[in-house]
Amino acid sequence: MIGNNLEHVKNQINDVCNSTQRKVQGITLIAVSKTKPVSLLEEAYQNGCRDFGENKVQELIDKYERLPKDIRWHMIGHLQRNKVKYLIGKTYLIHSVDSYRLAEEISREAVKKSTEVNILIEVNIALEDTKFGVLPKDTCELIRQISLLPNIKINGLMTVAPYTDEQETNRQYFAALRDLSVDIKSKNIDNVNMNVLSMGMSGDYTVAIQEGATMIRVGTGIFGERDYLNN
Ligand SMILES: *Cc1c(COP(=O)(O)O)cnc(C)c1O
Repeated sequence: MIGNNLEHVKNQINDVCNSTQRKVQGITLIAVSKTKPVSLLEEAYQNGCRDFGENKVQELIDKYERLPKDIRWHMIGHLQRNKVKYLIGKTYLIHSVDSYRLAEEISREAVKKSTEVNILIEVNIALEDTKFGVLPKDTCELIRQISLLPNIKINGLMTVAPYTDEQETNRQYFAALRDLSVDIKSKNIDNVNMNVLSMGMSGDYTVAIQEGATMIRVGTGIFGERDYLNN
């Protein structure tokens, strides 16, 4: 099943790239494996997946220990400061940094472990009350502050768009995140690049790619529905 799902997603990515003159290599497909057992991640791995996304620190670390070391782990969920120390050295990219205090903690742990941590800034682009993320109007200032911290590197922006059955409704938010990233890039802040735009999930990744996504985070579309009761 996972093989077929992956093929479908990759075909979709191919089609959008062809119709928008973008390169397929410019899109990283992150298999969002939260709540899924290691056996299913292994199946995805056999089918070529090397980028996996998790939203809980403990679950990411458990899976990190049990799966091949060439996997690139993406932390995509809300991160508490007291869990940061467990994560450093195990993640390829932390997508969900939305406060200076969290960035400070990441920086502190990275210095301790003599490593550099790559992060994205999570933006609450649709101004939803229920969502994490910095507000668009505060994003540039937050980036300026974080850029001064040692051993932490901002690589771009991430957003979780509103849940919808109609993917076109999120186009405006993806476009807004892209515009924000272009705006920040034009400011040429030291130690900051805007190479990554992490946006688009199972229901709307084709629209996200059309609007400039470089990383898409697909869970249900690869692994099927999540069953939170049994996990
Ligand atoms: C769960 C999750 C996804 C994947 O959602 P699907 O709709 O299952 O593709 C993507 N991004 C984040 C931040 C998530 O928590």
